[in-house]
Amino acid sequence: MIPYGRQDITAQDIDAVTAVLQSDFLTQGPVVPKFERSVAARVEANHALAVNSATSALHIACLALGLGPGDWLWTTPITFVASANCGLYCGAQIDFVDIDPKTYNLCSKTLAQKLEQAEREGRLPKVVVAVHLCGQPCDMVAISELAQKYGFKVIEDASHAIGGAYEGTPIGSCRYSDITVFSFHPVKIITSAEGGVAVTNDADLATKMELFRSHGITRDPDLMTKEPDGPWYYQQIELGFNYRMTELQAALGLSQMDRLDTYVERRHALAKRYDELLADLPVTTPWQAPNQYSGLHLYVIRLKLNAIGSSHREVFENLRERGVGVNLHYIPVYHQPYYAGETYGNGPFPESERYYSEAISLPMYPLMTAEQQDYVVSCLFKAVAS
Ligand SMILES: *Cc1c(COP(=O)(O)O)cnc(C)c1O
Repeated sequence: MIPYGRQDITAQDIDAVTAVLQSDFLTQGPVVPKFERSVAARVEANHALAVNSATSALHIACLALGLGPGDWLWTTPITFVASANCGLYCGAQIDFVDIDPKTYNLCSKTLAQKLEQAEREGRLPKVVVAVHLCGQPCDMVAISELAQKYGFKVIEDASHAIGGAYEGTPIGSCRYSDITVFSFHPVKIITSAEGGVAVTNDADLATKMELFRSHGITRDPDLMTKEPDGPWYYQQIELGFNYRMTELQAALGLSQMDRLDTYVERRHALAKRYDELLADLPVTTPWQAPNQYSGLHLYVIRLKLNAIGSSHREVFENLRERGVGVNLHYIPVYHQPYYAGETYGNGPFPESERYYSEAISLPMYPLMTAEQQDYVVSCLFKAVAS
C-alpha cells in the first residue's frame, strides 16, 4: 500500500537520537531548549514551547489565553478533532464556522457574519482556532481584524503548515495571532515521533504555557508568592499537566529541522506534478492562494461526481483496493457522536458537507517517487472511469 503520508528517517536522525540515549538526560536536558530555539528562529517567533503533542500544545494555548467554562471556542468543522477538543478540555463550548469553497479553510466572510449575529445574541467567542488545512494559510489579515473588532484571541493550528509563509512572513511568526501550534506526528511535515510546539511573541503567554506544560510548578522566585524556603524549593502556582517532550523526541525533531525546507520544496514539486497529470480528469485539484507559500502537508482532490459514473465511496474503495492509501481529511467534527446535541454546532454547514462528500487525500510525502506517483495517477484514471 502506498501510504498517504510517511516519515523520512536518515542516518543523521538516528545518530542524534542515539547520542541522547548515551547522554545524561533522557528528559529535561539541553536538547529540548535547543529544538525550541531552532523552531522559534525558523518561524520568526520570540518564544517556543515544546510539548508531547500538538494536542497538548492546543490545550496549554487555550489555558494560557484564559479559556474556561462559559466561554466559546470557534473553529472549522474540517479539521482533526484536536482543534476543537482543546476547548472542551477547558470547559468551554464549541461552535463551528463553515469553510471557504475554494481554500477549504474557515471562511472569513462567514466568520464575520456569524460574529455579527453572536454579538447580538451575547455569545461571542473568546478564542478562534484558525486551521491552515493542507498547509494553505487562512485569511489571517481578515481574521485578525475581526479579532480586534470583537475582542477574541486567535490560535493558528499550523499542524499542516510548518515551513510555509503568509504575506511574506513564516507561518508561526504570530503576526496575526496570539499563539501558533505545530505538530510533529510522523505523518506531518517533519517529525519528532510524537510532539508539538507552541510559539508566541507574548512573554506572558509563554510563561503561562511553560507552567501548564509541567504541573504548574515554577522555580523562578519572581513568580513565587514568598521567598524560597531553601535551594530545594519550588512552588506550584497553577494546575498544570505533564506535557513535556523528551530529549529523544527533541533530538529527532531538531535533526529533521535541517531538512524542513527541502521537504516542503519536494512536496511542492509533487503537487505541481499531480496538478499536471490530473488536469484532464473530472476532479478539482487544490487551489493555491497567490503570493502565499503552503506547507502542502496534504494534496486533496475533489471529485466532480456529476461527471463520474461511480460514487465518492466507490472511487475511494477502488483506490484502496489497488494499493493506493488514500484518506479523507476530515470528517466534519460535528458529525462525531461526542459533538452531537444542542450545545455544539449552530449549523447548517453546507460547504463542509459538500467538501466531505467529494474530498480525497492522495498520497504525498518527501520520499515518494515519480513511479509511485504515476501509479497513483493511473489508478485514479481507472477509478473515475469505472
Ligand atoms: C495532527 C493534527 C493535530 C494533532 O496533532 P498531534 O501532534 O497528533 O496531537 C491537531 N490539529 C490538526 C489540524 C492536525 O492535523
